[in-house]
This record gives sequence, C-alpha cells and structure tokens, in this order.
Amino acid sequence: MKMVKNFLNLLLSAIYPNKCVCCGKIINDDYYICDHCDKLIERNNIDNICLNCGFQEQDCVCKYNVYRFNSIICVFRNEVYARDAYYAYKFSKKQHYANFFAQEMCEAIQKVYSGIEFDVICAVPSFNKLKYDHSGYIAQLISKELNVPYTKCLLTCIKRSKKQHKSTIQERLCNVDGKYKVNHRVDNLKILLVDDIKTTGATLDECAKELLFAGAKSVYCVTALGSSNSQKQKIEK
Ligand SMILES: [Zn+2]
Ligand SMILES: [Zn+2]
Repeated sequence: MKMVKNFLNLLLSAIYPNKCVCCGKIINDDYYICDHCDKLIERNNIDNICLNCGFQEQDCVCKYNVYRFNSIICVFRNEVYARDAYYAYKFSKKQHYANFFAQEMCEAIQKVYSGIEFDVICAVPSFNKLKYDHSGYIAQLISKELNVPYTKCLLTCIKRSKKQHKSTIQERLCNVDGKYKVNHRVDNLKILLVDDIKTTGATLDECAKELLFAGAKSVYCVTALGSSNSQKQKIEK
C-alpha cells in the first residue's frame, strides 16, 4: 500500500509539480516559496511590530487612530510579492497559496500572541455569501494548526460595501458602521479575528466593536497583508 501511495505521489508531483507562490518556479514539495522570493517577499519584522496598528514601527499609524481590538499583526506589507501572491490565491482559490499564508500567519500568532489562549477563531465575512470566502478558509487552516475552534457564522455582513479604496478614514468608518452583526453571545471569550488586508482598520475595528458588545472578553486580529501608505497619504493631503 505504501509503495502504491509513494508511486501515486510521485506521479502527482510529475503532473502537478509544486511551484513557488510568488514566481511559479518549480520547487521541492516541502516548501511554498523559492529561496529567491523568500528573501524578497515583504514580511513585516514581527519583532519590531506596533501591536496597536499592526505595522512595523517605522510605518506606525497610531497617531491617526484608536482601535477597539486589543492588538493586531499584519504579517506582510501589501507590496509587490506578497500582494501578488495573495491576489493569486484570492482569485485562483488554490489551496497551496492558502497554506502558505496560513503557515506564515500561524508563526506570527505563535510568536506575538504566545501565552494567549484563544477560545475561538472567526474571519471577517463578506456581504456576498456566494463569493469564495478566502479569509474564512485561511481562518480554518489557522484553527486546525492552533487547535482552536473556528466558527463560520459568528459574524454576518448585513450591508453591501461601498467602494472603500478612495474613501478617507472618516468615510470608511461611516461606511462600515452597522455593517456587521454577531449571531450569538460570546460572553467572556478571547477571539482571534482573521482578515485578508488591513488598510485603515475600520472594518476590523467595527467587527471588534460588535464582538465586544456581544460579550467578548478580548479581540486580537491577524491579517495576511497590511498597507499603511494609503492611510497616511489620505490624511496628510
Ligand atoms: Zn519564487
Ligand atoms: Zn502603531
């Protein structure tokens, strides 16, 4: 049986070789990213991260915001390599990419949130339930790895999004006001909230507000990508 399985695996890797999530180069089955892209992908330095806004200290935007979640980690910067890999995942739905992001996010969570025992993991939902739930799928992978239950329907999005990318932070805060609802009480729970990207943080803040209203003890966030530039430019205009 083992021989058959090994043969099948060999055959599968010959037909579908393992490829780097950034450049597509064929790599060893044990990795998600090639050495070259691994050096270039825009990882935030987790040891030098501002946990109030999730960005590296030189990109900190805390002077512009006060958030209601306890802490946040943005694992990558929304730049070339990391952004392209995430968008390739979001639109291709390839599990391989999701595994890569989930693994990197788990490493950051275990390092930065070590000592915090989460009761539940949930993801920021989208309005369109038929759309591929890319953040939810990553949250499920993180849940398996950390052995913390994932609840799919804790949050529901009840308002369609307005185009956020050209809005100021004040407009974004208004846009998301009342957008999410919590479906059951979460009294005294420590929640890990997962999303794809943090820009102004208005969405995560709104979800955290609702979770805290529903009784949550604390809300910690983690996102694959984070972008501080658009926020600084818009406010400084
Ligand atoms: Zn590569
Ligand atoms: Zn900060």
